[in-house]
Amino acid sequence: MNQKHIRLIYWLKKELSVPQRILLTTHQGPDGDAMGASLAMYLFLKKQGHDVHVITPNDYPDFLHWLPSNEVVVNYMRQKPLAEALIEKTDYVFHLDYNHLKRSADMSRSLYQCKAVRVLIDHHPAPELPSKYIFSETEVSSTCELLFCIMKQWDARLIDRDIATCLYTGIMTDTGSFSYRSANNAQTFSVAAELMGYGIDRVEIYDKVYDNYSEGRMRLMGYCLNEKMEVFPQYYAALISLNLEEQERYGFVVGDSEGFVNLPLSIKGIRFSAFFLEKEDKVKMSFRSQGNFSVNDFSKKHFSGGGHLNAAGGDSKKPMNELIQKFRELLPLYEKELNDEK
Ligand code: 5GP
Ligand code: MN
Repeated sequence: MNQKHIRLIYWLKKELSVPQRILLTTHQGPDGDAMGASLAMYLFLKKQGHDVHVITPNDYPDFLHWLPSNEVVVNYMRQKPLAEALIEKTDYVFHLDYNHLKRSADMSRSLYQCKAVRVLIDHHPAPELPSKYIFSETEVSSTCELLFCIMKQWDARLIDRDIATCLYTGIMTDTGSFSYRSANNAQTFSVAAELMGYGIDRVEIYDKVYDNYSEGRMRLMGYCLNEKMEVFPQYYAALISLNLEEQERYGFVVGDSEGFVNLPLSIKGIRFSAFFLEKEDKVKMSFRSQGNFSVNDFSKKHFSGGGHLNAAGGDSKKPMNELIQKFRELLPLYEKELNDEK
């Protein structure tokens, strides 16, 4: 925690020393870090007597619905009038695990117009969301890791087992259970160790997140690996795509393709992987890399997306086949860069 952040916490804490209306928001397609941070912060602020609400732009996977206080979440896509009323009436808006309003999808217009005081807590590069309080650290594994440091500085006595459970879930999911480079610093492990001290059940958390899928999801994974994975050994790359018809065939629900983009990286020599998922109104793209190849730059440059060095994404209204073709055609341009990797 740097001095600037310590000062910010001091002032923010002062402002929030009387009960306020606080809205916690996160990015579309919320993941474990987004939900872990939102619900941990909800519990933390609730304990201080604030009127707190959590809004997600849209649905999030079932494997996150067990998180403590999940029942308070308002889904903008499904409960728009309620969500709009909350946005209109709030004193504070927290932006958790995202740093650009367009990441909040249909909610972004109302958030843009909202006059509340903004607080940004995030670990993505290059924040573009003007806020009074900005906690932006790209060196941490996850927003949840940063949030734990903020909470400790704010009032460590308020952290309890439920809050620790939410935070641990975010760190675990954003680091691929401590396997990605994002977990490459000692602090990530010491935070995890401190969270253990609150009596969290690490094995149960893992089981609830990763061992709770449907049979259809496992068969869909098999189908992807067997019939959909295109490997480009000369470019150290691979691609998997799923269209709507294929998803329907396997009874697809939100979250079922979680982690698919990582699968090809298990192949020796593959260090760049892409996953394209067709949706009703757009195509969602995910990119992953191992080593120094920046999928953040790749995604930003060619697919108007963004993210981190080794994990990025984007979406597009263009037809999926067109996007896949564009991806294939881009690969030769990166042959040297990907070859220099190792
Ligand atoms: P995922 O592939 O898991 O959806 O996202 C991987 C990373 O890329 C996450 O850190 C996420 O925040 C970022 N990301 C995903 N989609 C987008 C997008 O459309 N725009 C931007 N700027 N970042 C994205
Ligand atoms: Mn995150």
